[in-house]
Amino acid sequence: MKKYDVIVIGAGPAGYVAAIRSAQLGMKTACIESYRNKHGEPALGGTCLNVGCIPSKALLDSSDQYYRLLNTFPEHGIKAEKVTLDVEAMIARKDQIVRDMTGGIRQLFAANKVEWLQGHGKLLDGKVVEFTPHEGEPERLQAENVILATGSTPIELSAVPLDGERVVDSSGALEFTSVPKRLGIIGAGVIGLEMGSVWSRLGSQVVLLEAQTEFLAAADTRIAREALRQFERQGLDIRLGARVTGSKVTSRNVTITYEDDKGEQTLTVDKVIVAVGRRPNTEHLFADDSNLLLDERGFIHVDEQCRTNIPGVYAIGDVVRGPMLAHKGSEEGIMVAEIIAGKPGFVNYNTIPWVIYTDPEIAWVGRTEQALKAAGIPVKSGTFNFAANGRARAMQSTAGLVKIVAHAETDRILGVHVIGPMASELIAEAVVAMEYGASSEDLARTIHAHPTLSETVREAALSVHKQAIHKAN
Ligand code: FAD
Ligand code: AMP
Repeated sequence: MKKYDVIVIGAGPAGYVAAIRSAQLGMKTACIESYRNKHGEPALGGTCLNVGCIPSKALLDSSDQYYRLLNTFPEHGIKAEKVTLDVEAMIARKDQIVRDMTGGIRQLFAANKVEWLQGHGKLLDGKVVEFTPHEGEPERLQAENVILATGSTPIELSAVPLDGERVVDSSGALEFTSVPKRLGIIGAGVIGLEMGSVWSRLGSQVVLLEAQTEFLAAADTRIAREALRQFERQGLDIRLGARVTGSKVTSRNVTITYEDDKGEQTLTVDKVIVAVGRRPNTEHLFADDSNLLLDERGFIHVDEQCRTNIPGVYAIGDVVRGPMLAHKGSEEGIMVAEIIAGKPGFVNYNTIPWVIYTDPEIAWVGRTEQALKAAGIPVKSGTFNFAANGRARAMQSTAGLVKIVAHAETDRILGVHVIGPMASELIAEAVVAMEYGASSEDLARTIHAHPTLSETVREAALSVHKQAIHKAN
């Protein structure tokens, strides 16, 4: 039996990072990945690179450019006539980015001497891994350590079965070859909002059906309220408290049936995207006699350091508890590789940033004001609007605000919540501040270049102490 120090199953942002770090630390490492892209070619990078973070951001950027050309360029004095849209070229650009990025992981594997085993991996008893190549017979491999990083897949709704044509999941939503006139999206979470933004900017009439009555329940309520206002202003039709009960597909359209507080409703659209969340990939991953334990929600059970119940077997990324975010999985990958190498690996789960790449972008780190208050923690907060920021005005992106929540007695920053231009980049400063245990006064006394969007973060920190300069406190 071939022997390895580390076998990683799954090469998404959790698994490929774990594999590279393991190899960097001198361990003989193999990574088993079964994914084949739409051309049938084996590819590394997992959901994130192939059908998630990267392709969605490519389309968000393309659609943003198109939208601005039509809607905001004229105010800059730039007028474009006869603007046309080539959706196939847009999709082809996205595909090329994916190809480049996944090819990059292949090169990193080669440079770090990570062996890529193309096929399916399964954990057997005694840290033996069964590897079934795409073509060929299963082979057994012996590992000192196994890292399970098999990720997640979209949850399907029995009331709205996918047909790959009119009813698709998030992967299908990245492949439309024309702009649907009317688009229904089930689920107004992160993925539903991002996909809705793409196709709405390109001209679709978008209706989002969301079962919960509260919009973006995980976000700070002030931010969620502002987000709803901005999205509705852009024309997104967000129907809360809408529980989808059925669907009927014809050759021309799809009719969705849903219930809200007024009773049964119907919605007829040209295409539907089902974006109701993701579930962990654990099917065919382990033999019964491996005795791997799952938790009550079907995720692989792990402790704070991603150890499963089997010594020497770890699990990371979307297949375990915690937010389904690429960078969370990658950090767990590094932690586990370092623990295996005898180093003190650690992930600070309190400082994982969240980002929603809509316009305005939404980003936060730490806890919301409502969660802190519910936990009985005394807090004070400060806010600052982008409308009062010179750079935001120059960019013509003035919607939104920064909110900082700090401990009422110690002033330690407990949460930073941003809705506005480049929120995804601005949040990094807040993550560093929280990682170093900063107080809001520390942030307020830090010099920020002028004119920058980051001055909004500083002003929000000043506002915690009612000392903001560019607003009436
Ligand atoms: P995955 O990326 O799912 O990778 C797991 C890999 O394991 C897959 O390639 C799979 O083929 C392979 N695999 C599974 N079982 C086996 C097996 N038995 N043998 C061999 N291989 C196997 N997150 C962000 O942080 N930022 C974003 O902007 C963002 N945008 C997203 C947009 C969309 C549309 C979607 C769908 C997701 C987005 N996410 C985003 C979430 C992000 O993609 C996931 O959190 C991340 O990919 C999880 O990484 P992972 O390595 O745990 O799993
Ligand atoms: P996320 O977990 O961010 O991908 O968001 C998924 C969203 O889909 C959540 O806000 C859920 O409340 C929502 N959702 C789940 N099931 C349904 C359903 N049957 N109808 C409408 N929305 C749903």
